[in-house]
Amino acid sequence: MSTTENMLPFIPFTRPHFNQETIDAVAEVLRSGWVTSGPKLAEFEATLSEYFGGRPVRCFANGTATMKIALQVADIGPGDEVITTPISWVATSNVILGVGATPVFVDIDPITRNIDLDQVAAAITPKTRAIMPVYLAGLPVDMDRLYALAKQHKLRVIEDAAQAFGSQWQGQKIGSIGDLVSFSFQANKNLSTVEGGCLVLNNIDEAKLAEKFRLQGLTRQGIDGMDVDVLGGKDNLTDVNAVIGLHQLKQLPVFQTRRAALARQYFDVIRSELKSAGLDDLKLELPVENFTDSNWHMFQIVLPLDQLNAERAQVMTELKDMGIGTGVHYPIITGFTLYKKLGYKTESTPIAQRIGRSILTLPLFPGMADEDIGRIASALVGILKKHRKN
Ligand SMILES: *Cc1c(COP(=O)(O)O)cnc(C)c1O
Repeated sequence: MSTTENMLPFIPFTRPHFNQETIDAVAEVLRSGWVTSGPKLAEFEATLSEYFGGRPVRCFANGTATMKIALQVADIGPGDEVITTPISWVATSNVILGVGATPVFVDIDPITRNIDLDQVAAAITPKTRAIMPVYLAGLPVDMDRLYALAKQHKLRVIEDAAQAFGSQWQGQKIGSIGDLVSFSFQANKNLSTVEGGCLVLNNIDEAKLAEKFRLQGLTRQGIDGMDVDVLGGKDNLTDVNAVIGLHQLKQLPVFQTRRAALARQYFDVIRSELKSAGLDDLKLELPVENFTDSNWHMFQIVLPLDQLNAERAQVMTELKDMGIGTGVHYPIITGFTLYKKLGYKTESTPIAQRIGRSILTLPLFPGMADEDIGRIASALVGILKKHRKN
């Protein structure tokens, strides 16, 4: 490793961006005397509702709480099965277990890395109540096929769109169509409130129910203007977070354009680096080149481990030594101890098993410089060449 490489700044796999206007707005909320859920939350929810074509939207403390409340609104609980993907953040299946229901894992499509809709029908039983797809890296599934399946089998759909804020399906925003659609505003997501989430619902009755679940089951009816008739939690979003979201929403178009431009460069530069390194036959898998639907939440590659003398961890360490941060999104959920104890097997979803071992997230965030892409691609290809099996 050369000294110059050592001196280059470290590129994390992602980094949130909050501008001065956002920082000032947060200070204003802190000084206002009303810091928890209040007027800024109401404004954020109304703005989001407008963004999603007028559908009701409610915000929550985080994406995990948002998905849990979506399941509660759909009345999913003990005895129910929910079909989902094993390649997601573990929150997806944890919330299903959390409400007492059973996650049923269907294998993924190796190209999109999302749930394979061709295999969903075979996993449906009389206990199935919902499908919970995940839009990995912001790429949606085929929404026409998803909702045709749901309609045919009379299932609810709870979209884990945590990574898909700003993504589209045939010109329509994810969230503006569909059943219950859950987003996360966690720090790494395309739009962040530091921590937070929102749920797009079908009607005001569902929105009122979601409000109850997010605050102790409280309703404003009853003799003293207060009653509790369902078991709720404490999952509200504060005005401090909401005001950050309002400002992030203004910057979203700029963020999105930048993400797409960086993703485009990745495809070009990785391909040309592979070519000049004489690695044309290396089966490195790039993402689906979709510049109309994806919000480019992440740029993920799948390493050709059977053509390499190194595991993913080794590649990550070598990149880190060159000042490049990467991530694993995600290891297969059924490989976790809890899920193994519950009887799940990674072998039952072989494509997810392979991709969970070999998927790698390269840095992608709006604040990256063009030169960063070249630096990352050449470091990556250099490492692959070094570990190439003969
Ligand atoms: C981020 C994320 C979540 C959870 O959101 P939190 O806000 O961290 O609770 C769930 N599912 C997926 C796919 C995510 O990326």
